[in-house]
Amino acid sequence: MNLSGRRVVVVGGGIGGLATSALLGHAGYQVTIIEKNRLVGGRARYLKLKNFFFDMGPSWYMMPEVFENYFQIFGKKTTDYYKLIRLKTHYRIFFENKTTLDITSDLEKNKQTFKKLEKDGNKKLELVLKKSAFIYNQAMKELVFQDYRDLKTLLRPKLLFDILFRFDLFRSLHDYVKAVFRSKKLQKVLEYTTVFLGGSPFNTPAFYKLVTHADFNLGIYYPKGGIYQVVKALKDLAEKNGVIIKTKEEVKQVTISHRRIIAVVTDKTPYPADIVVVNADYPFFETKILPPNYQTYPESYWRKKVFSPSAFLIYLGIRHPLEKSDHHNLFFTDDWENHFREVYQKRAIPTNPSFYWHVPTKTDLSLAPKNHHSVMILVPMPPGVFLNEDQSQAFSIKILRQFAHLNQVQDIEKKIVVKKIFQGTDFLNDYRATLGAAFGLAHTFFQTALFRPKNFSSKIKNLFYVGQHTNPGVGMPPVLISAQIVAKLVNEYGQRLSETH
Ligand SMILES: Cc1cc2nc3c(=O)[nH]c(=O)nc-3n(C[C@H](O)[C@H](O)[C@H](O)COP(=O)(O)OP(=O)(O)OC[C@H]3O[C@@H](n4cnc5c(N)ncnc54)[C@H](O)[C@@H]3O)c2cc1C
Repeated sequence: MNLSGRRVVVVGGGIGGLATSALLGHAGYQVTIIEKNRLVGGRARYLKLKNFFFDMGPSWYMMPEVFENYFQIFGKKTTDYYKLIRLKTHYRIFFENKTTLDITSDLEKNKQTFKKLEKDGNKKLELVLKKSAFIYNQAMKELVFQDYRDLKTLLRPKLLFDILFRFDLFRSLHDYVKAVFRSKKLQKVLEYTTVFLGGSPFNTPAFYKLVTHADFNLGIYYPKGGIYQVVKALKDLAEKNGVIIKTKEEVKQVTISHRRIIAVVTDKTPYPADIVVVNADYPFFETKILPPNYQTYPESYWRKKVFSPSAFLIYLGIRHPLEKSDHHNLFFTDDWENHFREVYQKRAIPTNPSFYWHVPTKTDLSLAPKNHHSVMILVPMPPGVFLNEDQSQAFSIKILRQFAHLNQVQDIEKKIVVKKIFQGTDFLNDYRATLGAAFGLAHTFFQTALFRPKNFSSKIKNLFYVGQHTNPGVGMPPVLISAQIVAKLVNEYGQRLSETH
């Protein structure tokens, strides 16, 4: 097969766009990435304020084998690009009653923690982990790499039995966890992971307890230098495989002929294309770039979808030891259900929110000046709610007050050296994110696997989609898998083209 003349245009240089481009460059295509921002990486970009470095989005490096397997395709290892540190304390949870709880890399310790909070908590945790490991392993084997073009692949008795009876798809994670644990604290520990999936424990199927396996059994890692090391590695891999990267250029329209995109048009120039891969916001591209008769998923489709929350992010450079914090920290309010209700149902600015904060300088001193810390605070916000300047300032003061209280920081304003807020409007402007959603589509039952928007267009033959809106879903590891699904689809399409032309 001669692919050397085939031109692939990739719209968007997020993790999905970079990872797909590297694979297609490696397979022999001529690949060009068009990215609207100055930096590639998308939500995984970095921010530098004075001498403080911040990863803007992802901070949890989970499912390390997915990264390893990806690099292996090129005969590489992650260690060729970055050094991984396994965190001893996975995360520290702060409860409203001032108690804290650490989940660690030591499973026995975790079992004892569970036992202290609930009779037989250790045995119950063991049981949950056994079930979540089963689902994780089966899902990785049978579901996660699927493109759901041909549903016959699912029609195997053993898999059907698992889907119907063992994957726990038909009740919420909250219902599952509540049936096992009575302790409200332990319930929260096992439920908060749904936020990684852009959902809430009340609308995410219990199937996603598989994340508990990734957390407790597979471990939480940190790439020295920050998550942006992953982006740098993917960029390097892409460029070594001949990929051309254009930044500060935005795709505005496409030219279509005979159900194929023949050119991608940016604010600067048209790019002729044989194949197009879209990593940009899926609903945005379908409804704002494609003409109506070429939309597989029109506006009416997206209106019925459950979007993930947006996020109110505060990046802080602070002169304080933050002794109370660890690398990953979570604050859980007693008002747990209400926060999710406000975000998902009422779509209101949360009154007493649970939130997360990241202090990578607990592990990596290189990210901030001596005796200072780089901190990112993340508060889930309703999608489609955009704060004006006054609301944003008021919300930031409220969160910082709580942060200062939990960390026992006196006069926090005087300790802050740099500060930047990033919220719904920024997600909209910087990534064209529909409703300013931070994590794309939530993982509800009807937005999982075969029900999720497909990795390919049904209306345009040479158009493919990669990234968090499509299969398998949200997060860096799923997006790396998404890239492999799309590379396979493109290769099959390229093969057909070569046979017919
Ligand atoms: C705050 C936050 C925290 C997170 N934490 C974690 C975590 O701890 N661990 C984890 O694994 N995952 C985490 N995630 C999720 C993870 O970051 C995403 O799922 C993943 O990075 C999405 O990658 P993507 O390639 O699908 O999309 P994106 O990163 O959104 O990339 C899409 C790219 O397309 C570009 N683009 C859009 N429109 C156009 C256009 N018209 N023309 C050209 N370019 C365009 C955008 O600028 C962007 O660069 C987090 C996300 C956020 C926001």
